[in-house]
Amino acid sequence: MDIFKGQNLIEFTDRFKTDLDCKEYLAQIKSKDGFECTSCGHGASQQRKDFSRTCNICGHTESATAGTLFHRVRFGVKKAFFICFEMEMSTTTKGLSASYTGVRFGITEKTARLFMHKAREAMKSSGSHPMDGTVHIDEFVVGGREQGKVGRSYDSKKKKAVCAVQLTEEGKVRRMYSMRIDNFSGKELKKMFDAHIDQNAKVTTDIWRGYWPLAKKYDIEQIPSNGGLNFKSLHTMIHQIKSWIRTTYSWVSHFNVDRYFDEFCYRLNRSQSNHIQQPDSSDGKGGQNLSERNYMQLTTDL
Ligand SMILES: [Zn+2]
Repeated sequence: MDIFKGQNLIEFTDRFKTDLDCKEYLAQIKSKDGFECTSCGHGASQQRKDFSRTCNICGHTESATAGTLFHRVRFGVKKAFFICFEMEMSTTTKGLSASYTGVRFGITEKTARLFMHKAREAMKSSGSHPMDGTVHIDEFVVGGREQGKVGRSYDSKKKKAVCAVQLTEEGKVRRMYSMRIDNFSGKELKKMFDAHIDQNAKVTTDIWRGYWPLAKKYDIEQIPSNGGLNFKSLHTMIHQIKSWIRTTYSWVSHFNVDRYFDEFCYRLNRSQSNHIQQPDSSDGKGGQNLSERNYMQLTTDL
């Protein structure tokens, strides 16, 4: 059942030859939670040939894709599975564009874009595992014209954003989150703290005054950035996320930039969780079947 976890295209291709194979897979995952009729609440059902389920009492039928990312995709579940696979396997240096996906899968660019946004929403973190331990945080701008005219240091089309990373004892990035904010005030920066940083975390920021109001609630140490040298791992991630967005997407709207952040952070956190044992996996969820669950729930615990 860990098929989305693997990286082997041949295995994936062998496993999902038809739409029906994909529906069987989704039905298997769903059956783990048991059936409950959405119409009458009854628990007993019959499985049909297309892996939908029909309630024994009222006859209501629920398709295998209902309640998942793959519900009502007009170009077929198999193509949707493969697009997700490619999105997951694309690297942190080169993303997958909608126009390229359209060509690869024989769908229009618009259809590809809409489905990929849906997939990105499934990659959004649930925020249920805030970062603790050592956390570094900084602000940055993204988008707009990178190569503007000489002397054009400020571009109003640029989006403001904040990035936070949790570091390992060796100073390597263990997890990261990024989000768009309206400005660099304490009120806006607080959104990142509320969503992804535990109150017990040991947070380090540069000397920007926007963080002052947050020091009441959080353990914050402010140190000079020293040209980024004191935040090396964090700045490497900020550099990567900016260049990934720049090379993959020609235009980034205010609305979509958060989706791209979610996609990037999801992929990064997923690859890190494969390498690093999560100590907080006592709930029996950590590390396992992460992709599987987020396609069902439309959020991820990463
Ligand atoms: Zn029923």
